[in-house]
Amino acid sequence: MRIVVLSGGVGGSRFIRGLLAATAPDDDITVVANTADDLWLFGLRVCPDLDTVMYTLGDGIDSGRGWGRTQETWNAKEELAAYGAPQAWFGLGDRDLATHLVRSDLLRSGAGLTEATDRLCRRWAPGTDLDRIRLLPMTEDEVETWISTTVDGQDVDLHFQEFWIRHQASVPVHAVTQRGIETSRPAPGVQEAIAFADVVILPPSNPIVSVGPILAVPGVREALRGGVAPVVGVSPIIDGGAVRGMADQLLAGLNVENSAAAVAELHGSRSGDGVLDGWLVDESDADLLPRITGAGISARAVPLWMRDAATTQRLAEDTLDLARGLVRG
Ligand code: GDP
Ligand code: CA
Repeated sequence: MRIVVLSGGVGGSRFIRGLLAATAPDDDITVVANTADDLWLFGLRVCPDLDTVMYTLGDGIDSGRGWGRTQETWNAKEELAAYGAPQAWFGLGDRDLATHLVRSDLLRSGAGLTEATDRLCRRWAPGTDLDRIRLLPMTEDEVETWISTTVDGQDVDLHFQEFWIRHQASVPVHAVTQRGIETSRPAPGVQEAIAFADVVILPPSNPIVSVGPILAVPGVREALRGGVAPVVGVSPIIDGGAVRGMADQLLAGLNVENSAAAVAELHGSRSGDGVLDGWLVDESDADLLPRITGAGISARAVPLWMRDAATTQRLAEDTLDLARGLVRG
């Protein structure tokens, strides 16, 4: 079975772990990660979602925090703050820094982000879950998410990371823009992976700043709509709230109702002008099923909380099961 997952960071990687437990070693899994969270920091290219997937599947993640390296130290960050460096709010750990140094060096010497990602993954893959997947950036072009907001009475645009980390998503969201998305191209291998897939999965990742940008790379939506593989998604919203993260603040800022059904409608049905064939909601959201099926999307209610390895594997099995019932000619 060939499976493609369009992933953000924390929610996506957790789900992929479950997916690996739910599939056989010879199943072919390609993870296309969001790169619209990426940023330049002190001359280094930082790719938070690619790194969260790499560290999580490579057993290098700090599982308590859910991002960054295990056994991390913060000497460089403290030194940067001591210099009054304006970007010292970013959680740049000493171990993590090595990843950004290696990646930036590869990029500067002419490698694309796909090759740089592959080179970084080689360190982690042997003997870990990372060895069972192929990790691709959604694009090699620079795309950045910016949030229009108001800080201290002033209307400003903040890089998504500054909004999320420095302001902890506590300022109002007026608009979300993915700068550079219109002219971006899918990274090598992305459209091919989708075209040859047996199933495409939208894991429970943030619909606005993780899955949204991947779908907005010109050519990706067309590949999903034109492919033979069913496209099935898992709601990142349970009972009207985001489980981990800030999906709810972003949805509210964009006047999208905070519900599993509204996110399904946002992605839309492939039988209409959207991308979804199937959608899983939590059991507590079972009352939303008629609305989602009414929008032309097959839907089921199953437990969506990825509490531990067993519940996460169950969720992946339920996702594959939903997809199996939707295989088209
Ligand atoms: P990020 O890039 O690190 O923000 O991670 P993602 O975009 O991949 O995922 C973040 C989203 O995952 C959050 O906004 C939550 O809505 C969702 N999420 C996290 N944990 C769970 C869970 O256990 N179940 C479900 N259904 N969604 C979750
Ligand atoms: Ca992210």
